[in-house]
Amino acid sequence: MILSGAGLSAASGVPTFRGPGGWWRGHRATELATPEAWFADRDLVRAFYDTRRLGVVEVAPNPGHHALVALQEAWGADRVTLVTQNVDGLLGRAAVDAGLRAEVLEMHGALGRLCCERDRHRHPVVAVQGAQDPTATCTRCGAPLRPDIVWFGEVPMHLDEIGQALSRCAVFLSVGTSGVVYPAAGFVDLARRAGARCLEINPEPSGGAFHATRREGAERALPALVAAWTRGHAPAW
Ligand SMILES: [Zn+2]
Repeated sequence: MILSGAGLSAASGVPTFRGPGGWWRGHRATELATPEAWFADRDLVRAFYDTRRLGVVEVAPNPGHHALVALQEAWGADRVTLVTQNVDGLLGRAAVDAGLRAEVLEMHGALGRLCCERDRHRHPVVAVQGAQDPTATCTRCGAPLRPDIVWFGEVPMHLDEIGQALSRCAVFLSVGTSGVVYPAAGFVDLARRAGARCLEINPEPSGGAFHATRREGAERALPALVAAWTRGHAPAW
């Protein structure tokens, strides 16, 4: 099982709007990523996500993304579970670029989808490119459509599948995640308890309970690791 975070997309130049510089039009970006912000000012939150969605269009998947989808292609989606905290859709685009179909569990949602603000789980989700049409509404109930992003205070997606993968994986690899946001921060402990070898790729190690950490960018470390694995060699770390 491979969990990826912002560090996977860093080399692609995806702006994250997190950390000390995480301001957008005079608002702290994290304060826009809440259901309360959405219901208080939909135009503002929509414009914030339009900016992010348009920013992602201008960047491309990097060798780290390509390596992960190649590994899943080589070993099969039943053996390689790809989980990402990223909402940029770059793993899916890496697959499309290579003529492949990746199965990616996007636990924090995706910029490329809209969902019903009233019932995101049962009403249809809609693909979106570029800026969102503010007049588009749910085809089921007529409510406004919102970004299909997991906001603060909301439950991450695919937790059942992720829990199953963690309980039976032989290797848990964490790529470019800070390890501070739960529930993902607890994945390494769950995987260790289940007997997995736990590896981390991160220029700034998270401090989690990994057996080994490689201090390197994902775009450099992943292609080498995946090449070794697919040739049948265990990495020397
Ligand atoms: Zn609806």
